[in-house]
Amino acid sequence: MPKEDVPDSRGYFGVYGGSFVAETLVSALEDLKNEYQRARADKQFMAEFHHELKHYVGRPSPVFHAQRWSARLGGAQIYLKREDLNHTGAHKINSAMGQALLARRMGKKKVIAETGAGQHGVATATVAARFGMECVIYMGADDIARQSPNVFRMKLLGATVKAVTSGSRTLKDALNEAMRDWVTNVNSTFYILGTAAGPHPYPMLVRDFQAVIGEECLWQMPELAGRQPDAVIACVGGGSNAIGIFHPYLAHPSVRLIGVEAGGKGLGTGQHAAPLASGASAGVLHGFRSYLMQNADGQVIETHSVSAGLDYPGVGPEHAWLKDSRRAEYVAINDDEALQAFHDLCRFEGIIPALESSHALAQAAKMAPQMDKDAILLVNLSGRGDKDINTVAQLAGITLS
Ligand SMILES: *Cc1c(COP(=O)(O)O)cnc(C)c1O
Repeated sequence: MPKEDVPDSRGYFGVYGGSFVAETLVSALEDLKNEYQRARADKQFMAEFHHELKHYVGRPSPVFHAQRWSARLGGAQIYLKREDLNHTGAHKINSAMGQALLARRMGKKKVIAETGAGQHGVATATVAARFGMECVIYMGADDIARQSPNVFRMKLLGATVKAVTSGSRTLKDALNEAMRDWVTNVNSTFYILGTAAGPHPYPMLVRDFQAVIGEECLWQMPELAGRQPDAVIACVGGGSNAIGIFHPYLAHPSVRLIGVEAGGKGLGTGQHAAPLASGASAGVLHGFRSYLMQNADGQVIETHSVSAGLDYPGVGPEHAWLKDSRRAEYVAINDDEALQAFHDLCRFEGIIPALESSHALAQAAKMAPQMDKDAILLVNLSGRGDKDINTVAQLAGITLS
């Protein structure tokens, strides 16, 4: 695991991160931090984590040279890190697995989680079933209506799905409700967080569990392509798949790191989910300080993206820090551009990508034609797109039965 000295002992990445929580959670987060510190130094724990990743999740995920698509674009060679081939179809299982093992180590019998589109809910319900833990998933009532196949999946896996009817009845309300449950039942319950955000130590431990993505690329790229890539590209919602592939590359300063946020209908329209690329200001939400989409009064504003997994007004604190330090660059890709990349990957490579990942693919498609044919772009294909086919059909005016 990477041993960089961020965050500091209070969870700060520069001026971002920290822990802004109710008094009742302070000692729970302190316990979690201490237990995690012991776990990451414990060879047996790490061996078990990697055993589960190999035999249950199906790692290492391959790297694939998208030769036909690259040739069509007429420039750089594009390689795809296939997180879509993991059990449950995305990168989220990496960190859900690590956190479930931590929960077991801490003797917690129940896990809870928040979910928006349902992907993190499914990953959490999966690891809970794997280890025989009780599982409660908080989900906004509007999201439940929009994502019924994922709700049914969670129930099949034995989880209880609780509808959240407060606020905008979506992800950020589900997060508040999950926090409330945790405050009340903190002794028996482990909170499995879905992205590299939230109060310290979550951004750090989610990053460390997801860093397996980049660690594999470090040996896979020389093997397949003969060298490390010129740039690594990943989509950024809360930032977990991006920090997972970026982090091991921080020690390789010649590799550009490019995070792609959801530009929605365009940065100029205000209807997007791109706090970093749009030049938003910093604020506190869900227990940590970072860039945040807010109005002049500090009220969090509504976000928009064609992909539910990128539809979040904040961003993990390490990305805020990487932006300020300029080690990573952050750009936005609009709904239309992401959809084009979605269809191109389907047609030219036989891979249906998640709409989230399609944002990273679209950025590669923008850059590749400007580059030499021996340049190399590595894109994190964070998930498969089967979950998105209804959205894509609807946008094309097709109704699926
Ligand atoms: C949830 C999700 C994302 C966004 O979350 P990050 O924490 O930013 O990685 C991206 N891709 C897929 C496939 C997802 O399910």
